[in-house]
Amino acid sequence: MPCRSFLPDLREFVGLITAKAYVRPGDKYNLALSKNREWASRIASEKPDLCATLAKGQSPEILWLGCSDSRCPETTILDMEPGDVFVHRNIANIVHPTDLSINAVIDYAVDHLKVKHVVLCGHTSCGGVAAALGNTRLGLIDKWLMPLRTLRKDNIKLLESLPDKEAALKLVELNVQNGVKALKENHTILDAIGDRGLQVHGVIYDIAKGELHEVDIEEDEETSTIRQKAFKVSAATK
Ligand SMILES: [Zn+2]
Repeated sequence: MPCRSFLPDLREFVGLITAKAYVRPGDKYNLALSKNREWASRIASEKPDLCATLAKGQSPEILWLGCSDSRCPETTILDMEPGDVFVHRNIANIVHPTDLSINAVIDYAVDHLKVKHVVLCGHTSCGGVAAALGNTRLGLIDKWLMPLRTLRKDNIKLLESLPDKEAALKLVELNVQNGVKALKENHTILDAIGDRGLQVHGVIYDIAKGELHEVDIEEDEETSTIRQKAFKVSAATK
């Protein structure tokens, strides 16, 4: 069935929240709801099986870990469709090993959905990166951005030798490389790499051009072996 006939109760609910009393001309939220109805109608016409198929389940091959930035909507910039990409986004696409949210997403995508690729995406003009390169106290986000400040500290000579724009891009790149390392140390991902060839990628999205560029995440055999020794864990024997 096309999208329009799916979940009639939800349609009623949407009808309620778009009642005239809530409509304000030029309001982006109302425009978004209106756009959604147009999209659902168009998809029902152009791809009549898509929504009905998606309603039965999902089998995305890509887990996308990106920045929350509104200019980096993964499904749009990949020119893909609903159902193609499983997603987690946070400010500055940081991989915190103790972040419950990103770890839950990784576990579900890798262990249950069996995605084939994990893509960590940074981007140009990242506000989180700019904040970490500055020295203004912003509040809670300062704690979130601590891994970026650590990267800044560890690469301070290099970063200070570059013009501001290049330094920001270098920190974006370092953040992706650091995040890819953290992902490969995650035991769920580590197991899937060994068991079924899960691939981990690092990319940077150039907002001004709309293009993705791969980040160099090559490593030698020794690094991979050391990671296995240090991070591989198995269930405890009784
Ligand atoms: Zn960002």
